[in-house]
Amino acid sequence: MSNCIFCKIIDGEIPAHKVYEDEKVLAFLDVNPSSKGHTLVIPKGHVENIYEASEMDYMWDALVEVSDAVKTAFDAEGLNISQNNGEVAGQEVFHLHFHITPRYTGDEIEVDYKREELEKGEEIASKIREVF
Ligand code: 5GP
Ligand code: ZN
Repeated sequence: MSNCIFCKIIDGEIPAHKVYEDEKVLAFLDVNPSSKGHTLVIPKGHVENIYEASEMDYMWDALVEVSDAVKTAFDAEGLNISQNNGEVAGQEVFHLHFHITPRYTGDEIEVDYKREELEKGEEIASKIREVF
């Protein structure tokens, strides 16, 4: 995709601090990190979001490996993995990417969603099951 910023990073047109690369996957530091070591993991083939990500089992292996490296490098006490789909969900770059955000005591990062008690659970679950 010619106007995709992450494709440009893959092609070397835009610089990035790369931390891992293989034939199908690239990982590099987020330019606006939430914490030290905040890394993005992307497939080299351009797809926009999770709905286009079937046949990409290799992303899982890459995520596990890069998570392990990030955790080890900075002795992170924990980490969050997040991935946004659609503007309403906070997606800003429309090339599939997973955020690996290391967590440290006192880092003051908030990962919070307003929650309520589950109602009509069976109705909701069966609606999703019907789609398979
Ligand atoms: P999203 O909100 O789409 O889940 O996350 C996009 C992420 O890409 C943001 O965290 C943002 O800081 C990062 N980002 C946007 N443009 C660039 C760039 O040119 N280089 C790097 N390294 N990260 C970028
Ligand atoms: Zn792209």
